[in-house]
Amino acid sequence: MLQAKNVERYDFVIVGGGIFGAYAALYLAKKGMRVCILEKEKALLKKASIVNQARLHSGYHYPRSVATALMSDDNKARFTKDHESFINFSFEKYYAIDRFGSFTDSAQFERFCHYINIPCEPVEKHPLFNYNRIEALYRTTEYTFDPILIADYYRRSLEEEPLVDILLNIKIQRVEEDGKSWMIDTASIEGGASQMIHAPQVINATYSGSNAVNQLFGVPKINLMHEISEMVFVTSPQLEKIGLTVMDGQFGSIMPYGLSGLLSLSSVAYTHHKVSYNNLPSFDCQAINTDCKPDFTSNCNYCPARPRSNQHKMIQQIKQYFREDIDLNYFTSLFTIKSKLKANYIDDGRPTEINMLRENPRFYCIFAGKINSIYEIEKTITF
Ligand SMILES: Cc1cc2nc3c(=O)[nH]c(=O)nc-3n(C[C@H](O)[C@H](O)[C@H](O)COP(=O)(O)OP(=O)(O)OC[C@H]3O[C@@H](n4cnc5c(N)ncnc54)[C@H](O)[C@@H]3O)c2cc1C
Repeated sequence: MLQAKNVERYDFVIVGGGIFGAYAALYLAKKGMRVCILEKEKALLKKASIVNQARLHSGYHYPRSVATALMSDDNKARFTKDHESFINFSFEKYYAIDRFGSFTDSAQFERFCHYINIPCEPVEKHPLFNYNRIEALYRTTEYTFDPILIADYYRRSLEEEPLVDILLNIKIQRVEEDGKSWMIDTASIEGGASQMIHAPQVINATYSGSNAVNQLFGVPKINLMHEISEMVFVTSPQLEKIGLTVMDGQFGSIMPYGLSGLLSLSSVAYTHHKVSYNNLPSFDCQAINTDCKPDFTSNCNYCPARPRSNQHKMIQQIKQYFREDIDLNYFTSLFTIKSKLKANYIDDGRPTEINMLRENPRFYCIFAGKINSIYEIEKTITF
């Protein structure tokens, strides 16, 4: 039995302080629960919750997964209302079908939009686009959120919440349970303070760390694959108020990164540098940076062994869909590990799954497909 030096008791421990952990903590605190967030980084919301395309999914992206498309719509209205001042509503969003190599053709895309009832208006002429590459172009309604402003908002809200404690830069050393409570031995990563925490309920909200944390708590793993992913950020005087997503194959997307003035750029072919089909994210670069381990990964943005940027390839690829004189100026890149359920390898779906993996003491694992599904937790967690 772990010996208590310095025991703190909570109703819930949340492992992982991304947007899902942060939202869960605020939700539970509002219900009167005392919550502790354990986060391995030095600050909250530094991983996938800011390194993403910031698309407020409306469903367009998932012609091969109607379930994901419909779930996007479910949560979109509430997310939009709750985060209204962090959302960019003022750009034109286009979806295009490539003339070559698309898994979805224009008729299928139109049928799909019609079926899930989202607007898609064919645009036969547009001065900014290159119709030699585009079979069809559609004006759609899709917005982006600002991940940096949202991260600030959640950090501030948590600071003001007296029922939530946050332990940063923390590693879980050992876990035991007595049938009623988890006993979690934590230590500061940089040495020094250690803390024993007891709680009857644990929520694993660590995304790419999900299986490492499930393993620590002795609960089943979920079937995941992982990719080291690069989001490229560019500026463009002509595309400031334009977003384009090319469906559905080895293509890409460019759209305003919220209200920042930057455009985020991704490409199915070049964003994902390395792939791990193991349940834990294991990559060959971990042989160079031995601090980064499959069961405790480092932050790729500070890692000397991270892959070289594919920004040139991504910029060249997306430029083909625009008029020749469009400028795209590279600003920076951010890297993170993107994790996916293996079950969605074929249909490209991104469901958010929250499962109770142990009843006594209770253990939930959230695996988040997209940001606007933060509310799914309310359907599953009981107290
Ligand atoms: C490249 C890319 C593009 C995307 N594009 C979009 C998009 O356009 N729209 C959209 O809605 N979604 C998008 N997503 C998905 C979305 O970003 C994720 O679903 C979401 O951010 C997951 O949030 P989270 O809080 O679960 O994970 P994260 O933000 O990754 O947070 C998990 C936290 O857990 C911490 N952690 C990990 N292991 C441990 C441990 N052992 N102990 C303590 N803490 C730990 C991490 O440091 C991190 O802070 C994208 C994702 C990626 C990677």
